Amino acid sequence: MATNDETQRKWRTRTQLVRGATERSEFNETSEAIFMTSGYVYERAEEAEQAFKQEIDRFVYSRFGNPTTAMFEKRLALIEGAQACRATASGMAAVYASLACFLQAGDRLVAARAMFGSCLYICQNILPRFGVQVDLVDGTDAAQWEKALSKPANAVFLETPTNPALEVIDLRAVCDLAHKAGARVVVDNVFATPLLQKPMQFGADVVVYSATKHIDGQGRCLGGAILSDSEFIVDKVTPFIRHTGPTLSPFNAWVLLKSLDTLEMRVRQHCENALAVAQALQGRKDLTRLLYPSLPSHPQHKLAMAQMSAGGSMIAFELAGGKAAAFRFLNNLKLIDISNNLGDSKSLACHPATTTHQRLTPEERAHLGITDGMVRLSVGLEDASDIIDDLTQAFAA
Ligand SMILES: *Cc1c(COP(=O)(O)O)cnc(C)c1O
Repeated sequence: MATNDETQRKWRTRTQLVRGATERSEFNETSEAIFMTSGYVYERAEEAEQAFKQEIDRFVYSRFGNPTTAMFEKRLALIEGAQACRATASGMAAVYASLACFLQAGDRLVAARAMFGSCLYICQNILPRFGVQVDLVDGTDAAQWEKALSKPANAVFLETPTNPALEVIDLRAVCDLAHKAGARVVVDNVFATPLLQKPMQFGADVVVYSATKHIDGQGRCLGGAILSDSEFIVDKVTPFIRHTGPTLSPFNAWVLLKSLDTLEMRVRQHCENALAVAQALQGRKDLTRLLYPSLPSHPQHKLAMAQMSAGGSMIAFELAGGKAAAFRFLNNLKLIDISNNLGDSKSLACHPATTTHQRLTPEERAHLGITDGMVRLSVGLEDASDIIDDLTQAFAA
């Protein structure tokens, strides 16, 4: 880093977001440069030898290190308050690498059942093939965590708030139980973003992101990140990424790095808009359920407000009239797009039961509260009144 690390750690978040970890080349560019290069050259053969023996610290090959990607990793680590970070090509690459880099045959993973569809696939279909025992619990049920973690475990995986039903899990309570059971806690913090919730402050060991969501926030590229202490990143994550190759491209790293400049103001506006939309939907007779963490009616409202500094950009609601009513509503939207993506500047709505969670059995969906009438809304950065007008006309149509 140009300014020393200690100084940058003391900067407030907004300064870190704009300037953290900026490295200038010999041209003294204002904006961070994109180093679109797969490899690097050496002055002498001896230098290459030393680099491969890790006697000198320099870039060797972009599968395991690139200056633009390194700026993104270091800036994100500053914001999270983590010692180190590795970027990945997508959020799923981050989730998979964060678990596969240390779990081995015979190990036990305890995970909260309500999670992003592909995360569930990793837990239910991939890890068990390599001999990892996976036990799923209801994340909001303290007794189930206690029971599952009364036996030794190696890892705990959870997301909070969850997708799509916005359940909020007690990070401190789960981390305490997990550590007593000998497990490392990995938290998927996508819905809360690095600004609204800092899982490590509640005891989490590893935080993972889909940078595709709010970090890019403008629907342009995929990316992911794993944050933890230096030992875990250096000893476990780095060799896994180096040798298996789920590396973030330098171009995407640059897009994500520049997106961090505006992350705070975008997330603040997402939250303001989402709260206004949630409040406008309160009390509607055609909705049988409305879920937003900042609303006092949310089942874990108190916990949400203790763990998060705002409610986030996601709202879920259930229309009376099941799938037909939900489809009619979605098809009548004029401004808001039908899309399974989220955390975008454009407001996006989807029907989880037939898209993101269609792979689950009807029983599994019912267990997670994903009913046929449920719609998930990712509130964007348009004027909140236009979002509310669109929702209102779509309900009426
Ligand atoms: C989108 C998402 C992921 C996966 O991220 P990709 O970048 O799409 O691979 C993982 N977890 C959560 C909670 C997500 O929303």
